[in-house]
Amino acid sequence: MPEGNESLNQPFWSFPPERSDVVVVGGGLIGTAICLHLAMKGIQVCLIESQRLASGASGRNDGQIILETVDYYPRMIELYGHETAHGILNFKREGQNELHDFLIETGVPEELAYHRSGSLTLAYNDAEKEKITDAVEAMEKDGFHSQIVNANEIEELIGSRAFDYGKLDPLDAVVNPAELTKTFAKQAAAHGARIVEGLPVTGIGPGVVEFDGGSIGCEIALVATNAYVSNLLPQFKKWVFPTRGQVLATEPSEHRYAPMGCITNFGYDYWHWAPDGRLILGGRRFVDEHREVGTDEFINPKIQSALDDLIKEIYPNLDLKIATRWSGIMGFSGDGLPIVGPISGDPTMWSAVAFTGYGLGLSWSIGKAVAEALDGQDTARTRFLTKLHPNRFA
Ligand SMILES: Cc1cc2nc3c(=O)[nH]c(=O)nc-3n(C[C@H](O)[C@H](O)[C@H](O)COP(=O)(O)OP(=O)(O)OC[C@H]3O[C@@H](n4cnc5c(N)ncnc54)[C@H](O)[C@@H]3O)c2cc1C
Repeated sequence: MPEGNESLNQPFWSFPPERSDVVVVGGGLIGTAICLHLAMKGIQVCLIESQRLASGASGRNDGQIILETVDYYPRMIELYGHETAHGILNFKREGQNELHDFLIETGVPEELAYHRSGSLTLAYNDAEKEKITDAVEAMEKDGFHSQIVNANEIEELIGSRAFDYGKLDPLDAVVNPAELTKTFAKQAAAHGARIVEGLPVTGIGPGVVEFDGGSIGCEIALVATNAYVSNLLPQFKKWVFPTRGQVLATEPSEHRYAPMGCITNFGYDYWHWAPDGRLILGGRRFVDEHREVGTDEFINPKIQSALDDLIKEIYPNLDLKIATRWSGIMGFSGDGLPIVGPISGDPTMWSAVAFTGYGLGLSWSIGKAVAEALDGQDTARTRFLTKLHPNRFA
């Protein structure tokens, strides 16, 4: 045996089985949710993650499970047409409700920090006030209730006087996204899925997933590596754009505000309060947008300093100490919709990538829809999935 052959330096125990009906590559929210739903159907599935579960965007986001996606609902209608925009909200709301029931049924441990106390979308200026008013009206018409809140109501909920107008969606939630990813994986394993961490996949092809030192045979290979998809599928370089986001968290504090997702400035800035008085806040990408691309997890001092200023803007009277700062990489698609389905018409190779800034809120529905599609079912969910098909770019 030659010395230094690192490609063979893998313990036997960390290898996946020789074959599995489905192999999911990537252990974020999307990969683990798909794995869970397949396993719950009794379909043999193995998930392979190159690092640790939730080491990508899924363990680095703000934890908001919210209804709207790339923009306010009227803009979504403009971008995608009424049927698709309405379909996205339906798909997400159904997923939010089912995820809620699932978590209540399986038990909500404290570390999951799951709270369904609604979300606030807050007007940064008069232009945004108008957008919020229009969105509430358009959503109400389509059966999605939210309500306008004023300065006093906003202060009561989140302790800030910086906003005098917003909308409250009572069915949105927050969660620790890394713990949710691990919960999906744990439940998948309990239903018979095999979860392998620390094994980078080096190639996929029809019926095979390869890694250093071996390969695994399968009926379906599904790539759920989000921003990193083009490492395995180079054609996706034209469709998925790795985009960085910056976040910080304060030390726990004596302040107790509603643990609800807050968004302002047309979706650019977001935060929520954890039950221990920690503020978890991110955004301000526009301060240095052209540098916030690529797959390096890089702390951008310019943006982090703008986040410090944002705290002072929202909470001028609070003395909060920063505990930690981090960045995360999102996979943006050209049209803001995820890319989910068989690749290049080959039914044995699937992608579920490009979840932009809202993959947490979509994970349950995507997991369920993909599992139903791979199981050959024809449901409202699988029909909606066709809107996300990769061939819209081909
Ligand atoms: C700063 C920030 C804030 C956000 N806030 C929110 C929010 O509040 N609400 C919301 O809904 N969404 C939010 N998002 C978006 C959300 O985090 C993502 O859409 C979601 O996590 C995508 O999940 P995923 O499983 O597709 O990707 P990831 O979590 O990125 O998972 C991909 C996985 O693939 C693995 N991988 C890559 N290459 C390989 C390989 N060759 N072999 C094996 N494994 C591989 C990676 O290690 C990684 O674990 C935010 C994102 C960021 C960065």
